[in-house]
Amino acid sequence: MQRFSKEEIAKFRTMLFERREILAGNVSRMSDSALSNNHDSGNGFNHMADMGTDNYDQEFTIGRIENEEDELRAIDEAIQKLDAGTYGACESCSQPIPKTRLRALPFVSLCVRCKELEEKSA
Ligand SMILES: [Zn+2]
Repeated sequence: MQRFSKEEIAKFRTMLFERREILAGNVSRMSDSALSNNHDSGNGFNHMADMGTDNYDQEFTIGRIENEEDELRAIDEAIQKLDAGTYGACESCSQPIPKTRLRALPFVSLCVRCKELEEKSA
């Protein structure tokens, strides 16, 4: 099990919450513009949608929402693990995830090796 100081846990928690807020803001904004059929509110998105790229833009935007929702879920799980004291352990092999990796991507649940294996098998 990975051991963190209180300061480190507080820092990861802040990073996760900040990231979460950014993503949550993006997701609701994109949902508004992609899923609403009201093209009359006069902003730039709707102007582009009126130029015949409607379906393409909509699919593209919804694809991005899925990714961000995945990341939001991962962030929520990471926050729960911080609370439970299990944060920083690889979900697949239970080895500690290097802190340098967690600082770059605080929501990851797999170490680099397991992540690569997962991507190869996907
Ligand atoms: Zn692993």
